[in-house]
Amino acid sequence: MRAVVIRRTGGPEVLEVEEVEAPVPGAGEVVVEVAAAGLNFIDTYQRSGLYPVAVPFTPGLEAAGTVRSTGPGVSDLTEGDRVAFCSSLGAYAERALVPAADLVPVPDDVSSDTAAASMVQGLTAVYLATSTYPLEAGASCLVHAGAGGVGLLLIQIAKRLGATVYTTVGSDEKAEIARAAGADHVIAYRREDFAERVREIGGDRPLDVVYDGVGKATVPAGLGLLRRFGLMVAFGNASGAVDPVDPLVLTANGSLFFTRPTLFDHVAERETLLAKSEQLFAWIADGLDVRIGGRYRLEDAADAHRAIESRATTGKILIDP
Ligand code: NDP
Repeated sequence: MRAVVIRRTGGPEVLEVEEVEAPVPGAGEVVVEVAAAGLNFIDTYQRSGLYPVAVPFTPGLEAAGTVRSTGPGVSDLTEGDRVAFCSSLGAYAERALVPAADLVPVPDDVSSDTAAASMVQGLTAVYLATSTYPLEAGASCLVHAGAGGVGLLLIQIAKRLGATVYTTVGSDEKAEIARAAGADHVIAYRREDFAERVREIGGDRPLDVVYDGVGKATVPAGLGLLRRFGLMVAFGNASGAVDPVDPLVLTANGSLFFTRPTLFDHVAERETLLAKSEQLFAWIADGLDVRIGGRYRLEDAADAHRAIESRATTGKILIDP
């Protein structure tokens, strides 16, 4: 079968398609025929070496498709079942070998494309808005990169929960997309100082929580926008890894809380993976829009990485095997 293989870390050019042995499921494992894999920013961190992964490896943590075969001990899945996953490496391939415990059933009313497009970014938006800082009516949040994969879903979920949403975007086209998703205040942070603009709109320190997946470029200024005891959620490194934060900075800004969560802790237990997926799929059935902003062939995975790293994408990018 064909799969993308990374033999050394580096730029997008290290993503190469190879003919590899088709996987055979061992105990507790399932071979999934991949219908579509999802591109996530984390794929670029693993490719570049920012997040170390032993080489060689096939990238991609997320896909949806159908069960092709199951190994010993897998009793609740059979050939043809539609499934999706968000935490098992090897998605950029025609078939993926996945522990059965990492698979969730995809409901009939959710397409495989939508499932592949929503597992990582959708479950991330769900845990950020319901667990890390449970939003409720009257809460005020800032979502950076609001036209991105996580951003668009988080804006919509935050609005469903009744929050006021400030968001930042990198272009006018992205501003329109974030506005259409329901954001109350859209800030073009490549043109204007986002912190100044948030203060102009909401007054001094108007935010309960900042959801920051941009990282290095934005986290320090975000700390100055939070109310006393507010929460900074630094959940990504799109502009680079966040510089260390002196605890006394949290004191000086009003006894703030600072967290650096990862999806993998939120789906480590099977019950939470299933519960959060059910919540996500229920919201999708109820109109949560999963925007697919582009698709690339397996052979063009390097172009997909170039696009997301150069801020050229909106919503979700799929990789078609
Ligand atoms: P996006 O689709 O949001 O793409 C990243 C966006 O970040 C870009 O489109 C761009 O939007 C913005 N950005 C700002 N500065 C830069 C820069 N210097 N280089 C590149 N992009 C920049 O990606 P994802 O939705 O996949 O992920 C968003 C963030 O969330 C990432 O940091 C990712 O690692 C993180 N993440 C974390 C998870 C967790 O559990 N901790 C899980 C999933 C994602 P704009 O042009 O509008 O600025």
